[in-house]
Amino acid sequence: MTNKPYNLVIVGYGGMGSYHAKLLKENPTLCVVGTFDNLEERRTASTVDGYKSYESYFAVLADHDVDIVLIATPNDVHKEIAIAALNAKKHVICEKPVTIYSEDLEEIMKVAEATERNFIVHQNRRWDKDFLTIKEIYDKTMIGNIFHIESRVQGANGIPGDWRHLKAPGGGMLLDWGVHLLDQLLFMVDSKITSVYANLSYVLGDEVDDGFQTIITFENGSTALIEVGTTNFIQLPRWYVKGTAGTAVIKDWSMEGRMVTQNFGVDFEAPKPIQAGQGLTKTMAPPSEAAVSTSNLPGVAPTMESFYDNVVSVIEGRAEPIVKNAEVLRVLRLIETIFKAAEANEVIRDFDAYKVDPI
Ligand code: NAD
Repeated sequence: MTNKPYNLVIVGYGGMGSYHAKLLKENPTLCVVGTFDNLEERRTASTVDGYKSYESYFAVLADHDVDIVLIATPNDVHKEIAIAALNAKKHVICEKPVTIYSEDLEEIMKVAEATERNFIVHQNRRWDKDFLTIKEIYDKTMIGNIFHIESRVQGANGIPGDWRHLKAPGGGMLLDWGVHLLDQLLFMVDSKITSVYANLSYVLGDEVDDGFQTIITFENGSTALIEVGTTNFIQLPRWYVKGTAGTAVIKDWSMEGRMVTQNFGVDFEAPKPIQAGQGLTKTMAPPSEAAVSTSNLPGVAPTMESFYDNVVSVIEGRAEPIVKNAEVLRVLRLIETIFKAAEANEVIRDFDAYKVDPI
């Protein structure tokens, strides 16, 4: 069937399932040997794309040649598909958000431990260039110590697709895009969360959120504003971060952006008052040219292996997962806390997921 070392079946051959199939075509180690989808039209699409379509999920589990199941279905069925695969002694790659509730992930983690199979979540945006650039600026204190992070994605097309509009399959933007932005934030900021405040948006009239804003405070004193919108006809920058020595901005995924840093120890003219509306201001006047330097964003060379390579390294016992289940669990608990904070319209101060035991 294949001469690649690992045979992989994609369960859920929709948007993301077929995207994985495309990406894996060039992968030397992971071979897509088939797919399973419970919709006839998606089974036909799989066959047209050249992949065997299994007639049932049971047939996937019963196939001893299958080493890995990759789950790309709506979110509510990730758990049952994952647990069945682990019990059938398959490794599992699972799309984000891994589950809707943190206790479901805990259950999966226990089964993975008992069956000695790997369960790895596809938090692919840890590899995004915009995020890695901000992480580089953060880690290397290129604008001083970063004390405020604004991370946003804003669209104008409403909630996409069908199931994403519904609560039961795990729709809504907090679970959909929020999970990426929160995962990036917690991967970068190594500090306990001391408070969470949030509001969710329901302006489109769906039963799930069409966007949200959350403000997260860390024990190290830094704050983050994370925002997802689907009703923004004018977009704010993807990243806006402030450090003790400057500010950095990344406009969008085209990587347009810059860093502006303060020139310490240089004599410069105090800013002159400017006319601002019906008044004068010195506070908001632009700094003199000598006071600041503008530089390009740093180039980032990937230092981590790719997601798929890491899956293989983990299976072969050569590496730790880059996306650790304890981290994914912490993000899911944060999402639950955000829902709670928004519903109660309260700041939640008892977020304690940082103490999650790694499994
Ligand atoms: P989709 O609706 O395009 O595809 C889902 C497919 O799963 C459909 O073809 C559907 O028929 C099938 N399906 C549903 N229940 C099934 C079951 N029980 N068994 C087998 N097949 C089943 O959705 P999508 O946009 O591809 O999203 C799928 C998953 O991928 C979601 O978890 C989503 O959050 C995730 N996703 C991740 C990214 C990313 O960047 N990591 C991007 C998009 C989607």
